[in-house]
Amino acid sequence: MKKRLLALLMAAVVALQLMGCHAEDANAAGTETKSSIKDLFNSAKEDRADEKDVEDIEREDIEKEDIEKENTDEEDTEIRYQDDYYEFVNQNLLSKIELASTDAHWDWFGELNAVVSSEMEDIIDDLATDGKTYEKGTPEQKIKDMYECVTNMENREETGLGPLKPHMDSIRSASSIDEYVDALAHLSGEFGFSSIVGGYNIMQDKADSSEYAVYMLYADTLIGKEYVEGENTQEYMDLYLDYINNMLMEFGMTADEAAQSTDSIERLLRDICESTLTTEQLYDPSLTYNVYTEQQLQDLYTNIDVPKMLRTLRVDGQDKYIVMDVEQAKKINSLLVEENLQALKDYSTFVMLNDTAEYANANYAKLSDDMKNALYGITESWGDEKTWKNLTQDLLPWDFGVLYVEEHFSAEDKEAVEEIIAQILDEYEVIINRQDWMSDATKKKAIRKLETMQVKIGYPDRWPAARDMMQVTPISEGGSLLSNLLVSMQVAIEDSLNKLGTKVDRSEWDVTPQTINAMYDPLNNEIIFPAAILQAPFYDSDNSYGANLGGIGFVIAHEVSHAFDSSGALYDEYGNYNVWWTDEELEEYQRMSQSIVEYYNNYEMIGVKVNGELTLMENIADLGAMTCITSIIGDDEKALDEAFGQMTYNWASEDTTSFMMYLLNTDTHSPNKVRVNAVLSSCDAFYKIYDIKETDGMYVAPEDRVGIWK
Ligand SMILES: [Zn+2]
Repeated sequence: MKKRLLALLMAAVVALQLMGCHAEDANAAGTETKSSIKDLFNSAKEDRADEKDVEDIEREDIEKEDIEKENTDEEDTEIRYQDDYYEFVNQNLLSKIELASTDAHWDWFGELNAVVSSEMEDIIDDLATDGKTYEKGTPEQKIKDMYECVTNMENREETGLGPLKPHMDSIRSASSIDEYVDALAHLSGEFGFSSIVGGYNIMQDKADSSEYAVYMLYADTLIGKEYVEGENTQEYMDLYLDYINNMLMEFGMTADEAAQSTDSIERLLRDICESTLTTEQLYDPSLTYNVYTEQQLQDLYTNIDVPKMLRTLRVDGQDKYIVMDVEQAKKINSLLVEENLQALKDYSTFVMLNDTAEYANANYAKLSDDMKNALYGITESWGDEKTWKNLTQDLLPWDFGVLYVEEHFSAEDKEAVEEIIAQILDEYEVIINRQDWMSDATKKKAIRKLETMQVKIGYPDRWPAARDMMQVTPISEGGSLLSNLLVSMQVAIEDSLNKLGTKVDRSEWDVTPQTINAMYDPLNNEIIFPAAILQAPFYDSDNSYGANLGGIGFVIAHEVSHAFDSSGALYDEYGNYNVWWTDEELEEYQRMSQSIVEYYNNYEMIGVKVNGELTLMENIADLGAMTCITSIIGDDEKALDEAFGQMTYNWASEDTTSFMMYLLNTDTHSPNKVRVNAVLSSCDAFYKIYDIKETDGMYVAPEDRVGIWK
């Protein structure tokens, strides 16, 4: 072996053997796997604190053979890092992780999410049992009363579809296309329900991101175009059609009626999907940003009274309307004829039932739960209590956010992360400057984009207006789960209508602090790191420099890279859709993108090829992030080793086959294992510190290595 393996690798190998004990003990005691995974996480943290000792051992020059021997003691087949780095680093961790029958997926994001969620559950438990009354409008009052609405199944049974009933009736009784569209417009304008036509969103105008604009949404394609048209997805399509059928029977249709309606819904669905953009196309503003005047909208939807619909939606009188999927809109218009009326009504009825099933009575909630479990390969439901607590959190995200940051936020961690962000932004400037395919003028613009990038860390200075607008009416005052759900939907609509016509406030947050994720928003040219992502294993003040660069550093660099991915690169420093590249540069960019698509198309999971087109943006961001991290580290072999190891460890995951199928069809990220191995195989620094031969699984010839930002 050319170089020593990293301290982190050692740490992972040793630490995971220790952790295994916890997991096995818990299993032996018959405890749920979920809690044993929590033990695993906690001991991971402890072990990380002990990492220094492990490093000391490593410095005594433990040879690769020893490490591999430890691995082979546990594994029947020897995994070589040269062939599969991801499996080599994660084999011990993953061998300890047994997916619970209630889970479709395991990774560190989910693991941390479970920890956050269980803390929130404790808050709910305390409030539910403290016997106190809280002042109206406080997070405590809202959470306490919402939880009562969620858990009181008698009340949910009595309520049935209660507050929704008149709206459902207006769809069911429509005797013409005009009445049908009018019913949809009322549901969309009042609550934001969107099924076939009339759905809209008020978002930043892509051409002038300081203003808001009205985007006319595409139709709800239920299980999604990828499943409807996929080659390997028929069994999932079948189970979804069963679900539609069962929901319609629960709604009161006879078996014959439900079967007939399901058939016609399927017919419409297939027809609509044929004229629908793919998921990756939805990220391309040249396809989705189509400006229409009211008159042009009328010319597009010849079978609708457009001015009347816009008045009902409360968005009439705008200079422009953005149509997101023009071909689909044409298709929908062609379907809006009397002979399809019954099928359209059934389609919209099902969408309404599907959108509200979780909040309705026990039968609807169970049908929805069973369908999702089957789709993702989950064999056991979470059980009522867990489901109820999750629902409560989903309905009051900002109230939980307030309570979360009171307990968890360290100004010191924020400062440390700010430092890493500054380092990454500086390094990106260096990377951009060394691109010989970019002109000086374009480089200047790219650097301007870096310099003006807004950084949001932790939580907002001011909580969003929607938090105060959302009020919860307790059962004792006539409230129910469904009525409070409708209030939350009304709040979202009112909030966005209030914004229309005002200047965009770029300091506003639309991500809660308890979210375990990070993001880049091209319309604000900003990166966002909620409080909850600033923890181990992503960031740990006890970790080495290299490990934190491979951890939170990789996450940050990935988000920064989105400013220059195949979609983000089309927006300027103000967040406006504005192509600032020359034609030749764009052509070169597309040529490199095509190589990336083909490169990833060669990887597969569960025998199904990765979709290089669908995952292009994320792959560009991953490849760019690794360039940035290794470029910062330079020749420090130990730090490189730590960074590769930590990045690989953080992306460890376990999935059911069905969930992997779901990811392959719908996720814009490559599967985690591919995210690691494909990126490392294209990273020159990886070959510098490890002995990778042409015959090894990880080897990719230098001329075949891909990436925009090298
Ligand atoms: Zn991303």
